[in-house]
Amino acid sequence: MISTSPKTVFLGLGSNIEPRKSYLDSAIAKLKLLENVIDVTCSRIYETKPLGNSLNNYLNMAVKLSVKDLEPLGFLRDINSIEVSLGRIRKEKWGDRTIDIDILMWDTEIIREKDLTVPHPEMTKRLFVLDPLMDLDPHWVHPVEKRTISEIWKNIKGEK
Ligand code: ADP
Ligand code: MG
Repeated sequence: MISTSPKTVFLGLGSNIEPRKSYLDSAIAKLKLLENVIDVTCSRIYETKPLGNSLNNYLNMAVKLSVKDLEPLGFLRDINSIEVSLGRIRKEKWGDRTIDIDILMWDTEIIREKDLTVPHPEMTKRLFVLDPLMDLDPHWVHPVEKRTISEIWKNIKGEK
């Protein structure tokens, strides 16, 4: 395979079924084991109210990865496998889940495939994504918005 320079990837993780913290920890341990993941940095953990009808609060966090020779769709399969291995069962939209792993941003790329939209379309509206991203990299520029995470975060904070 042709070797390329490392890319920066941001993921959003969430769990609202106990033991929530253990599910987050296990997901991170499994991400670290992936061959093409070179480096993993974690945000703080935030407790947030669920979207939809659930009564179970989430623990949310974001992670910043450095990846090498990895394709986004291949990685989506990897994170789906991690979700399944941690007991994720897909039922209704916004249903309770042991673990949810979403790709928030893939370096400076804009991806619009059937199974993958990156940057994640909802990320700029959600404080449970923006708060942890502020821990990791407030100066990172959102490739569609062309604004920094910090600018987007301030804008949303101002509206709340
Ligand atoms: P949600 O995260 O919206 O609660 P799911 O985790 O069940 O829902 O994901 C549903 C589908 O969303 C996945 O099978 C995946 O193909 C698709 N998808 C599209 N864009 C992304 C993304 N950026 N990150 C993760 N999944 C995505
Ligand atoms: Mg998801």
